[in-house]
Amino acid sequence: MCIRLPINRMREKQLEQLLGGMFLSLSTGCPTILTKSQWGGRAATCRTAMATPVTYVVIHHTAGSSCSSQSTCITQTKSVQNYHMDGNGWCDVGYSFLVGGDGSIFEGRGWTSVGAHAPNYNSNSIGINLIGTFTSSNPTTAAQNAAKNLIACGVTRGYIKSAYILKGHRNVTATECPGNTFYNTVKTWPRFQA
Ligand SMILES: [Zn+2]
Repeated sequence: MCIRLPINRMREKQLEQLLGGMFLSLSTGCPTILTKSQWGGRAATCRTAMATPVTYVVIHHTAGSSCSSQSTCITQTKSVQNYHMDGNGWCDVGYSFLVGGDGSIFEGRGWTSVGAHAPNYNSNSIGINLIGTFTSSNPTTAAQNAAKNLIACGVTRGYIKSAYILKGHRNVTATECPGNTFYNTVKTWPRFQA
């Protein structure tokens, strides 16, 4: 017979809570997403609600510098947001989410706001931008996995249709985005349709 001391029971409870949290995140299939306030982004100046689940997922690159740590990826994300808001005069960064080379995911407009990343698709898509220029190299494995996990998360949470269609930005607009090398990789991802 085992005599359990209060301290052990406390530890058991902590372990249960920890495991419960892990199972919760596994069952929802959702990676960590840094909210705007967590990465220090500016609040949107206006917003249009988006009906979900959406049909499309559109993949982009920033065509700017890549980043390999959370702090440098935050710098890049802020720079893109400033350009979209101050340069383009938009309400917010155009993308739904941005993904850094370290695998960090940054909330842009999020799951439920119309984006500004792919004309004619903005009100029925999630736009995911991988930070960097991928004309002759691919995003890191961490970034690619983060993007794929983010899509799976959107499906699990009901923001993206399970029968969604994946596209590269160039499939819907005359643009080089998301870069030749990365585009060839995106073509191999599940549910891609040119
Ligand atoms: Zn693009």
